[in-house]
Parts: sequence; structure tokens; C-alpha cells
Amino acid sequence: MENKEKLLKIENLHINFITVDGTVKAVNGVDLELNKGETLGLVGETGAGKTTTALGIMRLVPNPPGKILDGDIQFEGQSLLKLSEEEMRRIRGNKVSMIFQDPMTSLNPVETVGDQIAEVISIHQDVTNEEAKKKAAEMLELVGIPAARLNEYPHQFSGGMKQRVVIAIALACNPQLLIADEPTTALDVTIQAQVLEMMNKLKRDLGTSMLLITHDLGVVAQVCDKVAIMYGGEIVEAGSLEDIFENTKHPYTMGLFGSIPNMEDDVDRLSPIKGLMPDPTNLPSGCKFHPRCPYAKPICQEKIPTKTEVSPGHKTICLMYEEATKSLFDGPKEEK
Ligand code: SF4
Repeated sequence: MENKEKLLKIENLHINFITVDGTVKAVNGVDLELNKGETLGLVGETGAGKTTTALGIMRLVPNPPGKILDGDIQFEGQSLLKLSEEEMRRIRGNKVSMIFQDPMTSLNPVETVGDQIAEVISIHQDVTNEEAKKKAAEMLELVGIPAARLNEYPHQFSGGMKQRVVIAIALACNPQLLIADEPTTALDVTIQAQVLEMMNKLKRDLGTSMLLITHDLGVVAQVCDKVAIMYGGEIVEAGSLEDIFENTKHPYTMGLFGSIPNMEDDVDRLSPIKGLMPDPTNLPSGCKFHPRCPYAKPICQEKIPTKTEVSPGHKTICLMYEEATKSLFDGPKEEK
């Protein structure tokens, strides 16, 4: 069922880390929107600021050295940045849950999986131990593990099953929003496909909205409705799955697609994006992607691009699409 009610709205979010080596500008003016029941893929290379954005939503940016400098994060119309720590604790794990990178180490090796799921339920809901255990059994079944294994320990489970347990814990209180940070990266491809299928099923059955953080566009294609591409702490392109996959606009997004094999294209070599992510303590002037961009013109070193809506809901930040500067470009060319 299509439901366009807004769940999460991030506006102009800036997060810095003040270190002895300088100020790390991790998140630089991020805008994101997620409606109820939707899955948004947040995509980019390591160091793009994806996880820091997610930690910002959870209000888990370590302070110091981290600091949310500016912007707003609204969840169900309420600013999360204005809540007290106590109010935020009631939202975390209850209305908004997060599966962290490397979930294999997020389970406690000396507690049964049943106790670990039940513990989350007891913390957030007014239930007896008996009821929490019963709900834990239901959650285990929901993620495809027989409830009979409730009293087993994490080491008795395979990698894929541990990941399912972590998802069961994250979903135990029926959160409206599940943030999954690279949830399948540590899994082999077969198990990855099973976990993705399970996440799709949960989305269909429970209507949970998801923010899926990944560097893998293949995963995005299987699970997401909307995509935001992140580079140097900014969203450089955002739109529907079709916008991003079939009408790619930003040179960085084009580069990401050039870096993955495609069974339909007969090419000898992939064309990876040249160079590295910029140093977040010393970001390039103008467009942050200019040192790596195959379409860059001299103006890209000076002028900071602003957001252009290239079609309804499809936005990008690149001077090639701005009215005032687009005549300086010959339009996107094929990469050599
Ligand atoms: Fe490339 Fe210039 Fe567009 Fe930046 S503004 S992505 S450097 S063409």
C-alpha cells in the first residue's frame, strides 16, 4: 500500500569531529527525506559520511570529539535534536533501531539469543519476563529461525543466522524506522541474498521504513525505493531507484556504476573512479568531487554547486546542470 506520510526529515545537517590533527568535516549540509514504509539507500565509498549521518539520527555521535553543528533531524514531525537524553533513550531501540556495522560482534557471547532479544523488549515495553520471552520467540520465527533455538548461544549459529538474530533484536519493539549499516557486507553472497529477501519481506509484512547504508549498488537495486548518493559529507544526487539507475546525472554516481560489472555490457575493463575520497580535514574548494571528476572545468574549483532539481524529486549538485553555468559544459560525455 502506498503511504506518503513523512517519517524522517533531515535538513542541512552538519557534523564535525574536532581532533588534534584538525577538524574532520564529516557531514556537510545533508538533506534527506523518508516516507513511511519506504526504504532509502544511502550509498557512497568508505569515508563519505554515511555512518556519521546515521549516528546523528540516533543522537549517538560521540561528543567530544563529535558535534552536531547545524541543521535539524525531524522524526514524525518532532526535532530529535531538541529532545532530552531521557526522551531520546525512549525513541532509540523502540521507534528507531539501528543495526551496526559488523553485527557479528554485537551479540553477547555469554547470553542466549532469547535473553538478548527479550532484554530489549523488557527495557522498552511494560511486559512481564514471560511475555518478553514469548515475544522473543515470535521475533526469532519472524526472521526464519525456529523458536526452539531460543536458549542457544550465538556461537551455535552460522554467520547468516547471527545476522538474523541481530535483525530480530532491532525489530523486537516494532520500530517505525530501521537503520541498517552495511547489514550484509560480512556475509557470503548466498546468505546475503537470503537476508535481503528477509528484509524485503519484513518491509512488506510490517511496513517498517528503512535507511539502508551501503556501498553496494546491487544491494540497493534489490531493496530500495529511493537512493541518496553521498560524497565528501554531502548528498550529491538523490531520487527514486529509477532516477538513479536509469537517468544518472552526477559524475560521481556515473563513476560508481562504472566500477561495477554489468553482465549486459561487453567491456574489457571496468572504469573505477580515479583517485581517493578527499581528506575530510582538508576538503577541496568549489565542488568537492572536482579532483576526480572527468567532466571538471576550471569553474568547478571555485564555485560550490547548489542543488538542482533535474526532474520532479530527482536532485543533484553539479554545475553542469545549473542554469548559470551549464553552458560552460558540453554535457556529460562517455568516460574514456
Ligand atoms: Fe564534476 Fe564540476 Fe559537476 Fe563537480 S561541478 S561533479 S567537478 S562537473
